[in-house]
Amino acid sequence: MIAFESAAYNYGGGELLSDVTLKLAPGSFHFLTGPSGSGKTTFLKLAYAELLPTSGHVTLFDREVKSLPRDDVANLRRRIGVVHQDVQFLDHLPLAANVQLPLTVAGRRSESGDLDELLKWVGLSHLADALPPSLSGGERQRAALARAIIMGPDIILADEPTGNVDWEMSLRLLTLLVELNRMGKTILIATHDLNLIRQAKNQIPTRVLRISKRRIQLAGADL
Ligand code: ADP
Ligand code: MG
Repeated sequence: MIAFESAAYNYGGGELLSDVTLKLAPGSFHFLTGPSGSGKTTFLKLAYAELLPTSGHVTLFDREVKSLPRDDVANLRRRIGVVHQDVQFLDHLPLAANVQLPLTVAGRRSESGDLDELLKWVGLSHLADALPPSLSGGERQRAALARAIIMGPDIILADEPTGNVDWEMSLRLLTLLVELNRMGKTILIATHDLNLIRQAKNQIPTRVLRISKRRIQLAGADL
């Protein structure tokens, strides 16, 4: 579904990620962990073709990203929902409009019932008309998750989705991601929260990728 083959990346100041070879299988649930600055966000950007590898290959849905015309990349990216590390909204638009924005941009309209159901699922129905600056950290993260999945992606990438929320809200977000995985979505979560990873392991089979010395390794059972 997403495959890296001898992929490397550098921003110009020496290699940040080297010789990354791995596959995320359809329906899998992965965590990506590693110290701050180790390249988690960069890895995710490679995984949704925001960045191209400086050497090696990244393949999305069996298509090699580097060789694709820009329009095709845009189409592939629609099949990937991303929850960014610094969640941004259009502050003058109500939450419901923000969640729907990807559809609006794509020139599609949601069935109104679908949006209601999605907001209900993330527990934000009562805040549909609220403006983003009035939301708490946990509400913003859940709105970002709703926005990431409104296009019905096959893959969901979440960058530190529990970074600014308390433990109870972290568990709630994890539950939503686990439910998505049970519906068949492929999930990758970048986090340095080992408690979150342990909690997930109690609920579903997961694999943990760890960035160490520029390489990505499959972590053992020692977490
Ligand atoms: P993480 O998400 O694990 O904290 P990042 O992928 O954000 O790590 O960053 C890895 C390293 O790359 C950091 O040293 C960061 O400063 C650097 N970096 C990130 N983005 C850029 C950029 N656009 N230009 C140059 N360096 C960058
Ligand atoms: Mg990061």
